[in-house]
Amino acid sequence: MALPHGIVHVEELPVEGKRVFVRVDLNVPLTGSAKDRQIGDDSRIVAVLPTIRHLVERGARIVLGSHLGRPDGQVKPELSLEPVAARLAELLGSEVILADEPAGDGARKVVGDLRDGQIALLENLRFHPGEEANDTDFARQLASYCDTYVNDAFGTAHRAHASTAGMVRHVGHKGAGFVMAKEIDVLSRLLGDVDRPYLAVVGGAKVSDKIEVLDALLDRVNAIAIGGAMANTFLTAQGKQLGKSRVETDKLAMARNFLRKASEKNVAVHLPTDVVIASGLDAEDARAVSIDAVPADQMALDIGPVTIETYRTTVTRARTVFWNGPMGVFEKPRFAAGTIAVACAMADNRLALTVVGGGDSAAAVVQAGVADRVTHVSTGGGASLEFIQGLELPGIAALASR
Ligand code: ADP
Ligand code: MG
Repeated sequence: MALPHGIVHVEELPVEGKRVFVRVDLNVPLTGSAKDRQIGDDSRIVAVLPTIRHLVERGARIVLGSHLGRPDGQVKPELSLEPVAARLAELLGSEVILADEPAGDGARKVVGDLRDGQIALLENLRFHPGEEANDTDFARQLASYCDTYVNDAFGTAHRAHASTAGMVRHVGHKGAGFVMAKEIDVLSRLLGDVDRPYLAVVGGAKVSDKIEVLDALLDRVNAIAIGGAMANTFLTAQGKQLGKSRVETDKLAMARNFLRKASEKNVAVHLPTDVVIASGLDAEDARAVSIDAVPADQMALDIGPVTIETYRTTVTRARTVFWNGPMGVFEKPRFAAGTIAVACAMADNRLALTVVGGGDSAAAVVQAGVADRVTHVSTGGGASLEFIQGLELPGIAALASR
């Protein structure tokens, strides 16, 4: 696989008998009590297995590093990677030695004792304040544990931390793991010469969260279909009455400005023509109405059936689709139809490059059961949005050869 900016794939790195530090994203959701932590969804652990297995097969001495939660530079036993190490060992069918600290004499001993093909996991990197501060001493310490550096944690690549950025310049060889390489490969295709029409579907909670993304997309796409609570703000900006719907009243000028720029740049903007309304999130009275008929005491919680048809057709005709942000409150089945329809339309479009970014959108694609039928579901929420804006991600820039 050819990667941009001269980034080397892990398969091309010299790793036999070498100590290889792999920055992985094992930041899994935990359930259970503070004393008896259980792993909720283990898909982030499963995602990094190919890189680890590859290194085991090649006889590398593997040092894994990850954060878990937000311990803010302090040792918090309830955020120990211990349950993660146990699950990883189970999935690999081999031993994973957990160092009881991210750095220090204990960690150095564990790493020094590794034999070819063995795996160590450093304790939660964010137990040390140097990780998020990208502290030079901490970065050098981590670098001293390895000969080769691999980053397979795309979801944290937009952060300049010691394990994602600082340590890399102190290591001789560096490269991208399987997860990272696929992210870079697919997402950079969206920044290049794509097949057209190129459609962006954007939804979710807030215009203010996504305005930079929307602005950047204007320079690349042919059309943008907007849904979710974000659409309410655009519709209000156009003079529609949205009742009790979630609207960012302080962002109406921003929304109008965006619509003006879109028309100057010849980008078609689709907004809902009908919506599913209810008197509350848990109300039983959900029904679809025209966008001109939202009663004052109701709120728009999903796109309506007419809009679904329009968006479905638009997705079907596109040859490149990037989707971020649910079309409605998809966590509630009665407001999930719009989101599921977009996911299915993307999956059914076999001619297009179809990419999903964003935490909730990725969850929606899984919920719709079509995650393996779109080209790519990005593992990084914030990271994928920064990438498609064309911004430089510190964790990726650090991997580039200079
Ligand atoms: P992503 O994580 O994919 O980037 P966001 O975090 O921006 O997406 O938005 C997801 C959230 O937006 C969901 O929790 C969803 O319930 C909410 N949402 C979508 N549509 C609406 C709406 N019409 N009213 C209120 N909330 C909405
Ligand atoms: Mg979200």
